[in-house]
This record gives sequence, C-alpha cells and structure tokens, in this order.
Amino acid sequence: MDLIILGAPGAGKGTLAADLCPRLSIKHISTGDLLREVIASGSKLGAEINNFVSTGALVPDELIGQMIRDTLNADACQNGVLLDGFPRTIPQAELLEQIMTELGRPLAAVFYLNVELDRVIRRLINRVSCQKCGRPYHLLNLPPQKAGICDACGGALIQREDDREETIRKRFATFLAKTQPLIDFYKAKNLLTEVMADDNPQAALNFALQYLGVSAA
Ligand code: AMP
Repeated sequence: MDLIILGAPGAGKGTLAADLCPRLSIKHISTGDLLREVIASGSKLGAEINNFVSTGALVPDELIGQMIRDTLNADACQNGVLLDGFPRTIPQAELLEQIMTELGRPLAAVFYLNVELDRVIRRLINRVSCQKCGRPYHLLNLPPQKAGICDACGGALIQREDDREETIRKRFATFLAKTQPLIDFYKAKNLLTEVMADDNPQAALNFALQYLGVSAA
C-alpha cells in the first residue's frame, strides 16, 4: 500500500508517519530526512543541497525525482511506502504519478494534515528528534521520559537548524505557494482525505487506520 502525507512543516506528518507505518508494515520515506543524510555525508552534493535546505527553499525537482525513483525501487519499499515531504509541487506530483504508473503501484490515499501558522511555530520551536531513529518529540506536549534521550532507541535528541522562527515562516509560505495546490490536485482524483491536525496524535492515528479499514486495536 502506497500513501502520501501532506501538510505544512510542523503539521504532525512525522509523528503520524512514525505511528502509522509499523501498523501497515510500510516504510516511512521522508525526503527531508533523506536530504539531511546527504548533507551530513559532507559530500559536494550535500553542500549544494544545504544551500537550499538551510534557507527553507525547495531543492530542485530533478534531484528529488531521482532520489524517489531509487527509493521506490529498493527492496525495503516493495510492501509500500508513506511519502512524507514528497511531492511538494505539482510537477513533482505529476512525476510521481508517472513513476507509480510505470511500477504498477497506484496510490491508495493522500492524508492532509491541516494546521495554522501560529500552531506550527509553537510546535517547531519546541521540536526535537532522535538523531538515530528520527522519532519526533515536543519539549512541552510530548517530552521524552529522560531529557535529551530517545524513549524508543536511546539515541540523542537534537533540534533541526531550520526550526528557527524566521525559517519556519519562510517554509510555511513556500508550503502555501507551492504545496497547497496539491490539495486540489488530489481532491480531483478522489484520493484526498483531511485529518484534523490538533494536538492529539492518537486521534489522528485512529482516524487514518479507520479510513484505511485497519483495526485500531
Ligand atoms: P522537511 O523535513 O520535509 O520539512 O524538509 C526540509 C527541507 O528539505 C525543505 O525545507 C526543503 O528545503 C527540502 N525538501 C524536502 N522535501 C523536498 C521536496 N520534495 N522537494 C524539494 N525540497 C524538499
């Protein structure tokens, strides 16, 4: 089963994905995480990518397209994926449609997490995630049991460089300009379903499972 999760930065995509994917035995593919890995590798390509990511701008489509194609072809992704952070533009959505048609893997659903800018800022300036497994936390609403340590794997918790208020505002504006049109794109294909993105991750998970016809128990 292949799914997409759409929403502004800080809408709760990572949290829902981390809860949902193990239940469906599918792989969580975050293009942001993939790009941060390339940046961390210290390669020339990583430095080039960092110029876009650190300022909140989008990385060029050609680069992301190849990354997604390779990912979907990987053995670990044959049972399905939840795409988080991709597509982000109409050309990326068209490219994805082309790749999925080639692979004979039609999308099952697109979940849209709707959230306001103020809530996003409150969430992201308090967001940390595990350096090792990527599990997200919120220092006020969803703190780890031990400060600075991941409950799931014991990895160190870190804050992202682009989770600063000024960059958050820029990323939100980019979302409205470039990604919001995808809502209509997938609505027209009868694939879109809206998940309430309040501060209740369990309710979001239950909604998504119910929508997919998977028991929440
Ligand atoms: P995220 O972790 O999804 O918030 O992504 C962090 C940053 O990675 C974004 O602000 C972009 O600079 C870049 N990025 C992630 N996914 C994409 C994409 N599909 N297309 C272009 N840039 C992306």
